[in-house]
Amino acid sequence: MKNVKYGKCVKCGKTYEATPDLTTCECGGILDIVYDYDYIKSVLTKEKLAARNERTMWRYRELLPVEESTEPTPLRVGWSPLYEAPRLSKELGLKKLWVKDDGQNPTASLKDRASAMAVAKAREAGAEVIACSSTGNAASSLAGNAAAAGIKTFIFVPSRAPKGKVAQLMTFGATVISVEGSYEDTFELSKQAIDKWGWYNRNAAINPYLSEGKKTVGLEIMEQLDWQVPDYIAISVGDGCTIAGLWKGLKDLYAIGFIDRLPRLISVQAEGCCPLNRAIQTGEPWHPMEENTLADSIAVGVPRNADKALMAIRESNGLTVNVSDAEIMAAQKLLGTRCGVFGEPAGVTGTAGVKKLCEQGVLGENDTVVSVVTGNGLKDVANAIKACGEPITIPSDMDRLLQAFRDHHIPEGDC
Ligand SMILES: *Cc1c(COP(=O)(O)O)cnc(C)c1O
Repeated sequence: MKNVKYGKCVKCGKTYEATPDLTTCECGGILDIVYDYDYIKSVLTKEKLAARNERTMWRYRELLPVEESTEPTPLRVGWSPLYEAPRLSKELGLKKLWVKDDGQNPTASLKDRASAMAVAKAREAGAEVIACSSTGNAASSLAGNAAAAGIKTFIFVPSRAPKGKVAQLMTFGATVISVEGSYEDTFELSKQAIDKWGWYNRNAAINPYLSEGKKTVGLEIMEQLDWQVPDYIAISVGDGCTIAGLWKGLKDLYAIGFIDRLPRLISVQAEGCCPLNRAIQTGEPWHPMEENTLADSIAVGVPRNADKALMAIRESNGLTVNVSDAEIMAAQKLLGTRCGVFGEPAGVTGTAGVKKLCEQGVLGENDTVVSVVTGNGLKDVANAIKACGEPITIPSDMDRLLQAFRDHHIPEGDC
C-alpha cells in the first residue's frame, strides 16, 4: 500500500507493518493506521474526486488502507444521503441542520462501512471465515457483506439483540451464537473462540482497519457539503469506534488540505450507559457501567475503543451530552415526523443530544450542525411502536371511522 506507512500504537507508539491481519499492540494498545499524506496529496485532488462515478465508500480509495489490486466489496456501502433539515433546524433554533441518514446502507446501519473494510482485508489475508461479537449491527453488516463476497461468518450477539437484527443474521446465513449475558460476556466468548480457531477478527477496536472504513462517513459529509465545514457533528457513541473513525476522516481531509478547519464533535451517550462521556465530564479515567438503556447498539458498559474515542472528543474540543431513554424516543418521533427519517434508538441518539443542547442554550442560532443517524428503525420495530404509538384500529365501516376521528379529536375539516 503506497498510501499507508504503518500501524502505530496509540498507547506506546510502537509501529507495525500494515499486514491485512493486523490486530492490537503487544502492550494491549489499539493501533492507528498512519498515512503518507504527501503521497496522497500527489494522487488525489477535489476535482479528481468530483469526476468519479463510484457512489460508494470506495470512491475514497486513496485514503483507505487497501492494496490497489483489492476489488471493491460487492454491496453498495456508503454515499448515504445528507438531508438539509430546515423545519427541524428552525424548531430547534439552529442556524442550519443536516441529517446524514446512514440507515440507508445495505444492511441498514453505519456498521456496513467497517464490515465492508473487514471483508476487503479478509480477502487480502486469504481468510475463509470472519468472526465478530456485536450488539447487533456489526454482526448483521458483517454477515451481509461477507455473504455477498462468499465468506463464512461466525457471529456472537447478546441474547437481548432485537429481532430485526437477528432476522438479518439468519437471512444472510451466518452461524449465530446468541449469548445469555451482557455484550461484555459476548465479547469474551468470541475472543476465546477466535483465538482457538484463528478466524479473521472483525471485533471492534481489535482490528484497526474498521475505523478506517467508518471514517468514510466523515469524508462523505464534507464532500456532500462541498467542503464547507459545519461547526459541529453529533453522533451516538458505544464502543467509540464510530466517533474515532469520524474524527480520523476529518483529520485526513485537513491533512491533505481539502478542508481548512475542523468541526467540533458532539458525543452523545445514553444516561444509563455513558462511561466515555462520564470520563470527559469528570476528568477521570473511564469506569465500566451497567448496560441500562433501550438503545441496544450503544449499550456498551466496557467500551473497546475508549482511548481513540476520548482522544477524538478532546482533540476536537468536543461536547458531551447524555440523554434519557425518553429523550431518545422523543428524537425518534421528531426525526420521523419532521424529516421522514426512521432511525433505531441508537440511530437517533445523536439527534436527541442536539435537541437537548439546544434546549440548554449550548447550541443556538449561530451554529451549523450535522447529526448522523447511524441505524435504521426497521431493525427494532418494538421500540419504534413504543416511542410513536399504535394506529387507529377499526373494522371496515364508515360510521366507525367517523366515530374514531371524533374519539381522537381529528376534526372532519382536517380530512
Ligand atoms: C455501533 C453503533 C453505534 C456506536 O458505534 P461505536 O463504534 O460502538 O461507538 C451507534 N449507533 C448504531 C446504530 C450502532 O450500530
